[in-house]
Amino acid sequence: MTDFPSQADVLIIGAGAAGLMCASVAGKRGRSVLVLDHANKVGKKILMSGGGRCNFTNLYTAPDNFYSENPHFCKSALARYTQWDFIALVEKHGIPYHEKTLGQLFCDNKSRDIVDLLLAECREAKAQIRTRCEIQRIEPVADESKAKGFEVHTSLGKVVCESLVIATGGLSIPTMGATGFGYDVARQFGHSIVPTRAALVPFTLNQRALERQQELPGTSLAVTASCGEGSFHEQMLFTHKGLSGPSVLQISSHWKKGMPVEFDLVPGLDLPEWLMEQRGKKQESFLHTLLTEFWSKKLVQFFLHRNGLQSKPLKQYGDSELREVGKKLQTWSLIPEGTEGYRTAEVTLGGVNTDEVSSRSMESMKQPGLYFVGEVLDVTGWLGGFNFQWAWASAHAAGGEV
Ligand SMILES: Cc1cc2nc3c(=O)[nH]c(=O)nc-3n(C[C@H](O)[C@H](O)[C@H](O)COP(=O)(O)OP(=O)(O)OC[C@H]3O[C@@H](n4cnc5c(N)ncnc54)[C@H](O)[C@@H]3O)c2cc1C
Repeated sequence: MTDFPSQADVLIIGAGAAGLMCASVAGKRGRSVLVLDHANKVGKKILMSGGGRCNFTNLYTAPDNFYSENPHFCKSALARYTQWDFIALVEKHGIPYHEKTLGQLFCDNKSRDIVDLLLAECREAKAQIRTRCEIQRIEPVADESKAKGFEVHTSLGKVVCESLVIATGGLSIPTMGATGFGYDVARQFGHSIVPTRAALVPFTLNQRALERQQELPGTSLAVTASCGEGSFHEQMLFTHKGLSGPSVLQISSHWKKGMPVEFDLVPGLDLPEWLMEQRGKKQESFLHTLLTEFWSKKLVQFFLHRNGLQSKPLKQYGDSELREVGKKLQTWSLIPEGTEGYRTAEVTLGGVNTDEVSSRSMESMKQPGLYFVGEVLDVTGWLGGFNFQWAWASAHAAGGEV
C-alpha cells in the first residue's frame, strides 16, 4: 500500500469499540491518529453485539457493575465519561434507541448504527484507519535513555509514533479476530497480567444431566442465580449443552471450576409457606397443577422428577411433608461441568493489571507513551451494556491524554 503513513502522533492498535472512540477523541485535539486492525473490517464485536442491536450502554452504570482486582480503578474514567455522554453522542447522530430492561439501551435498528457513529466521529477527527494489517513487532525509541515513542513494524510498513494505544480487546470469540496480542505487548513492557478466564458464558452440564433435561432446550424461567458473592435475578434458559440466559451469563463471572451454583426457582416467594396456604384453600388440587402457576408443564414434570416427587392432592400432604416438598422444589443446586469457553463468551475476566496503569489517563506506569484501553485491561462489566460503557469511558480518558 503506497499511502501507508510512516509517522503518526498516536498509533492505536485495534479498531473496535475502544480503539475507534480513542481515535476520535485524540484526533479532535489535533493529534494525527492512525488506527490499525488485523481483521478485514472494523468493529466486528459491535456488529454482533446485543443480538445485532448493540446494547451500547446502561442507564444505571456505576463502578459496582464491574469486576477487577482493583475495584477503584474504573471509577475515575466512568465518572468523567458517563452513560449520559454516550447517549448524547447517540442522539447527536440521530440513532433511534430504546430501553429493553434494567436500564439496558439498545439500537432500535441495528448495531451497524454504532459502528457508523464511530466512523463518522473518526472522519471528523481526521483519524486514518487501516484494516488487514498484521503487527509484527514493537520497539521503544529512546533518546539519551529517555523514552521517545515507538517504532511499530507491520505487514503494511513501519510506523513511528509518539503514543501507542493498545485497544485489542480480550480473548472471547477468536473467530471474530480476538487475540492475546494486548497481553503480549503488556508483558513485553514489564506488565503483569491478572489471569484471564471466559465470562458472561453459558454453562455446560455432564451427559447424565443433559439426558434428564433433553425435553427442555429452549425453555426459560425467571430465577435468582447465586454463586460465591454474586446473585442475579433474571431469566435462565435450558440449552442442548447446559444452561444459559442472562442469569446464567451473569453468574458465570463469579464461577470457578468445582463451585456449586444455586438457583431459586420461585424468586420472591416462600414456596413452602405458599403451598401451606394453598392447601387451606384448594385441598383437592394436585401439586403439579398448582405449580403450573410458576412453570410450564414440562418444567413442572422436570422439577418433580429431579426431586423424586410424586404429585398428590394437597390434602394428602402432612405439614412437614409439604414444607419439605416446597423446600426441595424452590432451590436447585448444581455443579456445572464447565463453560462453553472463549468460543461463545461475551467477555474476558482478568487482563492487564490495573495497578500498573494510571486510572486517569490509562497510561502505563512502566513505559511512558504506552496506553491500554477497553477490555484488554483487568476491568470486566456485567451483562447489560456495561462493557461498552467501559470501552467508551477508558478510551475517552486516554484520548484526552495521548
Ligand atoms: C457476542 C458478543 C456480544 C456482546 N454484546 C455486548 C453488548 O450488547 N453490550 C456490551 O456492553 N458488551 C457486549 N459485548 C462485549 C463487548 O463487545 C466488548 O467488551 C467490547 O467490544 C470491548 O471493546 P474493545 O475495543 O476493548 O475490544 P474489541 O471490540 O474486541 O476490539 C478489539 C479489536 O482489536 C483487534 N485486534 C485483536 N488482536 C489484534 C492484533 N493482534 N492485531 C491487530 N488488531 C487486533 C480486533 O480485530 C478488534 O477489532 C459482547 C461481546 C460479544 C462477543
